[in-house]
Amino acid sequence: MKAEIIAVGTELLMGETQDTNSSWIGSRLPEVGLELHWVTIVGDNIDELTDILARAWERSDVVLTMGGLGPTMDDLTRDGIAGMLGETITTDPGLKVWLEDSFARRNMNPMPQQNLRQAGIIPSASSIHNSLGTAPSWWIERNGKILATMPGPPRELTNMWSTEIAPRLKERIPGNVIMSRMFKTIGLSEAAVDEMVGELYQMPGMDFGVYAKPDGIYVRAIAKAQTEAEVLSTLQAAETKIRAALDEYIWGTDEDLPAVVVGQLLRERGYKLAVLESCTGGMLGGAITDIEGSSDYFVGGAITYSLGLKVQAGVPAATIDDFGVVSEETAIA
Ligand code: ATP
Ligand code: MG
Repeated sequence: MKAEIIAVGTELLMGETQDTNSSWIGSRLPEVGLELHWVTIVGDNIDELTDILARAWERSDVVLTMGGLGPTMDDLTRDGIAGMLGETITTDPGLKVWLEDSFARRNMNPMPQQNLRQAGIIPSASSIHNSLGTAPSWWIERNGKILATMPGPPRELTNMWSTEIAPRLKERIPGNVIMSRMFKTIGLSEAAVDEMVGELYQMPGMDFGVYAKPDGIYVRAIAKAQTEAEVLSTLQAAETKIRAALDEYIWGTDEDLPAVVVGQLLRERGYKLAVLESCTGGMLGGAITDIEGSSDYFVGGAITYSLGLKVQAGVPAATIDDFGVVSEETAIA
């Protein structure tokens, strides 16, 4: 089923706030059987918002909005949806009482009239309680389509997604499971990886992507099927082929981090690690010490940013001349 995300806020368009919400939700849609087709950022402008909502409602099965649910006059998501569906917003008495109570509990009496905007509802929507904020979500279902609003603050959004939106979507979208796995390689170019997994592109029920990242080239395998068992077996078959093709170049999967994987290898082998840092100015040591238990294998390091300091630290000038400042030989020396 086609899903679409609309992120609302002029500050997102201006680049003042980065739209991290869309990618966070985007990466979670496959788990509920949804395929993301469009992400739109729209400013706090009622005409443009209504316009994009209408287009999304027309072309997508599930529309998720994020942001613009606050109490101020520039929070227009509710008004946009009401306008798009031709419905009128009225104050929900239950929501009003809940909002007033939550202000009273925080000794903020009386509640500013503006906040009543957050108790607004339209006939087609049911409201979903926001346990971390004052902006409830709206949930709308019509003709097999779904529209849900989510609050903008990332903490509220991720909580709303995990506790309320994702479970509801899962219930309503049976028989279409999508799962993906990321394989992380190092030591090969993007083109080389692509060539090595080239024949996999023909696998039925699978989609592949190759991406260059700071810590290597990633291969994403996405499996789609009617049941979870089917998806798992397709993904397993793809994994076997990917591992056969890329073998020792794979250093990790999914959420693996280089510093964690390196730490495991060092611990298994009983090795100690010391680093010589130049350009990175301490970042490498920082990445290693961020990992719990790194004192088991990490001894420490030197940050020798200037050439003079490298020589002072004991690197022979000839080594630097012959191999360069950033080289295995210089680090060992
Ligand atoms: P509020 O009740 O806090 O006003 P809201 O739903 O109206 O909630 P916004 O006002 O749109 O949300 O945004 C609140 C804050 O959430 C913003 O200041 C911004 O820091 C953050 N935010 C909003 N949208 C996004 C986004 N797409 N990605 C990351 N952060 C966001
Ligand atoms: Mg706002």
